Amino acid sequence: MHIHHVLPIRQSHYRQVAALIETSHLRHDPAAQLQHDRPSGPVYRPVRRTALAPLSETLVRMDGHPIAADLWRLPVAETHAVQQHGCAADPAIPVLRAALAAGLDPVELRALLDHPPTGRGGPDVRQETLVQARWCPEAWGVMRLGLHWFLVLWFDLDRTSLGPPASGEDVALDLGLDPVVQVVTASGQAWTVDPALPADLPVLRASLSGPARHRLDRALFDQYRLTLLALTERLMGEASAVYVEALSYRSMHRPFVREARRTGVLDWHEGWLHTRLHLAGVRFERIHPAGTSQRCSRCDGQPYGDRYARVFVCRKCGPMDAHENAARNILRLGRQKVRVWDARQQASTDVAS
Ligand SMILES: [Zn+2]
Repeated sequence: MHIHHVLPIRQSHYRQVAALIETSHLRHDPAAQLQHDRPSGPVYRPVRRTALAPLSETLVRMDGHPIAADLWRLPVAETHAVQQHGCAADPAIPVLRAALAAGLDPVELRALLDHPPTGRGGPDVRQETLVQARWCPEAWGVMRLGLHWFLVLWFDLDRTSLGPPASGEDVALDLGLDPVVQVVTASGQAWTVDPALPADLPVLRASLSGPARHRLDRALFDQYRLTLLALTERLMGEASAVYVEALSYRSMHRPFVREARRTGVLDWHEGWLHTRLHLAGVRFERIHPAGTSQRCSRCDGQPYGDRYARVFVCRKCGPMDAHENAARNILRLGRQKVRVWDARQQASTDVAS
């Protein structure tokens, strides 16, 4: 399966990217099709087939010019694929991630952030078990979106183990910041997904600046990435259909979007989840989010209720968990959408035969 990832380019390098276009090293490619339901802009690709050289997780050589781009925002399988082309992993990040997960005390964590371990580090043994990615270093481009530039990389994604087709049940996901994902299933199970992180992390982060804060954000992203990919693998193996809200980040509350981008929830929701479920043959549907958190999921989503942070109160059914309620509404709407769609498909097949 041919997929792409869109990674931010550091603002301080926008001028160099624009210069590569002005000097005709990169040319607008109207045939470069990016995923239609995500914001996309014109894509420029190299005129001569030149390989992109990843120099580190934050730096690439683009037609001879070093450009800072966030390669570290790729999912694990794609990261491994890029690393096979000579981009070394930052040895500090796995150590910091482990420290975050273990709930290391703020003073020790602070010391690690200020004086990170150096050297080559051991090989990063983490790997996704269900997918494998291949990257061709000649398959790259840049995309302009408004005033911003992004690096676009293409990959081939394959399943590593075929296994029996998913015979599981329908699952709905409500995305947020705390919990990061609320899961409900058609059989009534509900659980939340959150990475293990120290409780006083926001305070620590606010006290940091420069490279230390960047390092913390990298480790944090890594921790979220592992958590979200673990959920993805579970869904690939156990779900028959997955429903999420079709969120348009452009119209959303800015701090939420910033936070979702920082943790990788946005990347996961917009790209990774979809491609991996597709590869596993799990149906994936996006649901219009109108009313999912304001209606009661028990009385068929009809009456509007009141929401107080994590509690939703239906005037008829009483109080319930707000995230679970939203996820149940997404599940109901998703199943409705699929029923209508399948009936329509069936009707057109009947007419044709
Ligand atoms: Zn109700």
